[in-house]
Amino acid sequence: MRRFSAFAIAREAFRNHEGWGRTWAKRPPGKRYDVVIVGAGGHGLATAYYLGKNYGITNVAILEKGWLGGGNTGRNTTIIRSNYLQDPSAALYEKARSLYETLSQDLNYNVMFSPRGVIMLAQTHHEVRGYKRTVHANALQGVTTEWIGPQRVKELCPIMNIDGPRYPVLGGLWQARGGTARHDAVAWGYARACTDMGMDIIQKCEVTGVRTEGGRVAGVDTTQGAIDCDKLGIVVAGHSSVLAEKAGFRLPLESVALQALVSEPIKPCMDVVVMANTVHGYMSQSDKGEMVVGGGTDGFVNYTQRGSFHHIEETLRALVETFPMISRLRMLRQWGGIVDVTGDRSPILSKTPVKGVFVNCGWGTGGFKAIPGSGFAMAELMAKGYSPLTAEFGMERFREGRFIDESVAAGVAH
Ligand SMILES: Cc1cc2nc3c(=O)[nH]c(=O)nc-3n(C[C@H](O)[C@H](O)[C@H](O)COP(=O)(O)OP(=O)(O)OC[C@H]3O[C@@H](n4cnc5c(N)ncnc54)[C@H](O)[C@@H]3O)c2cc1C
Repeated sequence: MRRFSAFAIAREAFRNHEGWGRTWAKRPPGKRYDVVIVGAGGHGLATAYYLGKNYGITNVAILEKGWLGGGNTGRNTTIIRSNYLQDPSAALYEKARSLYETLSQDLNYNVMFSPRGVIMLAQTHHEVRGYKRTVHANALQGVTTEWIGPQRVKELCPIMNIDGPRYPVLGGLWQARGGTARHDAVAWGYARACTDMGMDIIQKCEVTGVRTEGGRVAGVDTTQGAIDCDKLGIVVAGHSSVLAEKAGFRLPLESVALQALVSEPIKPCMDVVVMANTVHGYMSQSDKGEMVVGGGTDGFVNYTQRGSFHHIEETLRALVETFPMISRLRMLRQWGGIVDVTGDRSPILSKTPVKGVFVNCGWGTGGFKAIPGSGFAMAELMAKGYSPLTAEFGMERFREGRFIDESVAAGVAH
């Protein structure tokens, strides 16, 4: 794969950019692979990438029923932070955040990581206590966060009304090295690196069945034929329980729609990410100038990538309270994704009852931020059978009652 560099860009500028080549290869599926990953979202691609990079396992196929990055990875609001409460979560999300810092260099692909800072607003006394507790926990975990007062919040985000009539801003949980990245670029960068290692990325290839022999995975049936494999990674977010059923086990997940929307582009007015969990909305400004807005999940299980209309109204009403200047903005686009939510709002990175089958799911409303760390840890689990980062996230925790309760850190916001 040709490396991107200032020199290469200058040279191509003189050649009408005709010498770049494909970002990832298009090949028909092979008959057999050491590892098959189902789902070419960020987590699937990152898992494949670290299998190759860290363990030299490159006879890998990544199968995608739609188009690469077309699931939640290409639909999210790109917030990256690691200020979770429980130790296993903080370790995993902070690993991911730290990998984001150098991901563009690592992949030789600009993922536009922008550590502009994330504020989680406290607008009730309950939130003040909760976030102060998180700051203390983060200090012990080695995650840099800070409790800031309302005046500092206003300095960081002048367009905010901190004296709202219902929910004045009482302070915030501030993570200065949190931020955003370009979601498509994360998927494309990993895909390009996987192709470079000789892996096959096969789009429009839906897995329709999982074949087993003597309790061990033998391969998958797909819309492009049967493929044999030694190990199978199921990394399909909202469709995880559907695939698990095909493999013969159940997952404690609910699939619900989560939606987001963007406004028309306006001049730069906000250079931090703000999450307002009490009024239930969050917002940042994209590089194009659009205000990127997200809210809550639908309250019922479904598989439509849209989201209910009343959520748009609720979210915008909430945000107008905190950011009165957006009241006259027109919204340009709205979309949804199907997120896979667990009871404790923590992911599942796990072996399964079927030998050789692994699952990486349950990221719910907040898995974009975790992509590099999840891929790193999942690859270790699949290659070695154990990873310290995934040890607490096994699916057996629901049977054993060992929950990693992140409902405050992850239940609403992202
Ligand atoms: C509106 C919205 C806003 C969000 N905001 C944030 C945020 O700000 N920050 C954050 O950290 N997270 C956020 N998230 C969550 C985040 O997007 C997801 O947790 C993350 O992208 C999940 O990545 P994934 O690779 O697991 O899943 P996906 O990107 O969904 O990839 C799974 C892939 O599997 C494919 N697939 C499914 N079934 C099959 C099959 N049978 N065969 C082959 N392929 C199959 C799908 O087509 C899909 O492409 C948000 C999500 C949404 C929907």
